[in-house]
Amino acid sequence: MENTVDEYPSNFTRGYWRSRTEQQLLDTIFDTSSPELLNGISCDIPPDKEVHIELAYSLNGRPEGRARCVFCKWSNHYNGFVVRHRSGSRHLVGKDCGFKLFGVDWSEFTKEFDAARDLASYLRRRNAVLAIRDYTVTRLAVLQSDPCIDTYDDIRRSFREVLPGLYHKLATSAAGDGQISIEEKTRDFAAEEKRDDKLDRMTLTERKALGLNGKRKPIFKFIPVPIGHISGKSFFKTGTSPRESIKNAASIISDAFTGLENGGTNVRTIKKHLKQLKDAVTIIEDSVAQLRNMTEAFEAGNLALIARWATNLSARTDQARYVAEIGTLRRIDNYGERVAQYPAKYRLPNVDFIGALLEAFRTY
Ligand SMILES: [Zn+2]
Repeated sequence: MENTVDEYPSNFTRGYWRSRTEQQLLDTIFDTSSPELLNGISCDIPPDKEVHIELAYSLNGRPEGRARCVFCKWSNHYNGFVVRHRSGSRHLVGKDCGFKLFGVDWSEFTKEFDAARDLASYLRRRNAVLAIRDYTVTRLAVLQSDPCIDTYDDIRRSFREVLPGLYHKLATSAAGDGQISIEEKTRDFAAEEKRDDKLDRMTLTERKALGLNGKRKPIFKFIPVPIGHISGKSFFKTGTSPRESIKNAASIISDAFTGLENGGTNVRTIKKHLKQLKDAVTIIEDSVAQLRNMTEAFEAGNLALIARWATNLSARTDQARYVAEIGTLRRIDNYGERVAQYPAKYRLPNVDFIGALLEAFRTY
């Protein structure tokens, strides 16, 4: 990156960075960690304002300490810039000293430099993402036809058809925090005391008249007792299925790739399409979590919890009994049995291509 003065364009001061081509920006290193070692370093202030910012330095924590500034003449700054003069000389200027040295022009210099550095960074990120475009599109197609997506839909539909009442109750609970409670019969001591007080205030004759002089019976009440939280909530929730979500994500990703390819070198456009890609990645991650939720829903402990809860709920209605077995929830009543069952083959899809995309987003 040792440019000679002859190579500098006429807009050496203003517009230097703006006139760089995409390839030039991609080839540029914008930061240095040892500014003093650059060729042509001068300890004097530049002869005039025919300069631009060439590099930024950030030296926090380096053993040699701060850099010496041509303006304040002290080793005063961890953060600053290498300012290049038209003659080729280089001058280290502390971040804040630049304003004192160049006045209002300084903010122009730094703005142009920062914008170029920002654009170069986004161009690299865009290129890194586009480099894995074909791979991503192929893997997305594989994901969309993964057998687990069909299986998920089948099992969910069958659960809903076989145990509609329970499914509905589970959906209601899953829409909240997923906590479930059973009703427990307990002595209502407060009610008994109130009754006893009332009876004690009566005369024997009054009590006899009411037929209440015999043994005082215990009074019971039903109180809800939380027994746990349902796992795999999304399996019981109504809403977008993994199939729809993944299809939606694939379409967003396809649009974003096209946008990045044709969007030119505008930071805002690149940012917009990278954001689309990130959102689509989140959708895919959520969909995989949904697919995983089915396994969690059928885990032994969860089925046992649901069976206990459902049996308790049925006690005061249809007297059905629910039994949890491995991968199976059985409902037994006077008319027979109904069974919801986890599939024999169910494997979550491989979505490691998401990692490659996330890695590309981190390109700097
Ligand atoms: Zn200074």
